[in-house]
Amino acid sequence: MSEKLSFVQPTPNSPWGTYLQQVDRVIPYLGDLARWAETLKRPKRALIVDVPIEMDDGRIAHYEGYRVQHNMSRGPGKGGVRFHPDVTLEEVMALSAWMTVKTAAVNLPYGGAKGGIRVDPKKLSQKELEKITRRYTSEIGIIIGPHTDIPAPDVNTNGQIMAWMMDTYSMNTGGTSTGVVTGKPLHLGGSLGRVKATGRGVFVTGREAARRLGLDLRGARIAVQGFGNVGSVAAELFVEAGAKIVAVQDHTGTIVNENGLDLAGLIPISRTPAGAVGFEGGDKVPNEQFWDVACDILIPAALEGQINADRARKTSARLVLEGANGPTVPEADDILAERGVLVVPDVICNAGGVTVSYFEWVQDFSSFFWDEDEINVRLDRIMMNALNQIWDTADKHKITLRTATYAVACERILTARQERGLYP
Ligand code: GLU
Repeated sequence: MSEKLSFVQPTPNSPWGTYLQQVDRVIPYLGDLARWAETLKRPKRALIVDVPIEMDDGRIAHYEGYRVQHNMSRGPGKGGVRFHPDVTLEEVMALSAWMTVKTAAVNLPYGGAKGGIRVDPKKLSQKELEKITRRYTSEIGIIIGPHTDIPAPDVNTNGQIMAWMMDTYSMNTGGTSTGVVTGKPLHLGGSLGRVKATGRGVFVTGREAARRLGLDLRGARIAVQGFGNVGSVAAELFVEAGAKIVAVQDHTGTIVNENGLDLAGLIPISRTPAGAVGFEGGDKVPNEQFWDVACDILIPAALEGQINADRARKTSARLVLEGANGPTVPEADDILAERGVLVVPDVICNAGGVTVSYFEWVQDFSSFFWDEDEINVRLDRIMMNALNQIWDTADKHKITLRTATYAVACERILTARQERGLYP
């Protein structure tokens, strides 16, 4: 018997509600370890912090920040920091839990954590951005550290923000702790290949899934939602493999071109305030039409909850590659499975980022840095081994790749939990 969490009542399609349903689906496959499954349904530790800063105009503004350590059974907490006006504790809980599953799915020696600040960084000056980052880092400094919990970039955070986080933590602790965050700039202990790693992992898992489906990448039509670090990098790699990008949606809108969008023109414009719709080489259409575009592969690489039941019924894709965390709600997952649409779930599909974060952390500790080929070869090997093992599990139990990934990951997490035992 367990009492319910008092501080979050999940709604069914909220990120935390989605995660809890995903856990419920794996419990029948956990055997005796199911005894420990409640561990997965509650975060180990959650910190809410006030982040006050003095704005450029002299006002004092307060923001709410979070760091959630969902599970540390297999190693230190690991996971990004998100700056977004809609960030909530509940969302960060879900994102931290998905990190626990993700690091276990690819067998990295980490638990899962995540952080965020409820802020629109586009409305901050560079100086204000630095202040909010540093104050937040100082506030969560009581629970992060190179051996306890290692933040990284996520939505709207980048190498510069990681550099400020590393510096702030180091100032407060009196040394230079490069290993406290990953996704840093190269000359501050960052790793080659880290910026492109998540998109690369989406491509590697997608290429293997397409091969198994008998879907030829040459000429394959791909629709990409979210054109940041994940979506645009994956798009480039698929185009190199012969596919064409027929639709792109970002925060500015949706553009389509059934002959394929020219990425060399689109990517630079999408990085400016004009966004993807600033590109002339495609037709601008209303956002909801993105889901109607005829395509073979759909890559949701933006935020949670994007593929709902309605959109799952509409899509013509045969393959969904979850570059984002939590883009598909459970009801939509069922509809896609019934329709024979294969979903490569977030917790394996986008694990390339945290995998190269792990390489970065290892390089920082050994103060010995690898070349990019070595990073990419190791990344591909880890992703392919993990995916093959998950596929075997899916075939054995006749379950979706998502539930199979949870089965592989949760067995590792709960075995560690059981072996460590309950304290006291
Ligand atoms: N934010 C990324 C993710 O969701 C990377 C996390 C990391 O590198 O720790 O997987």
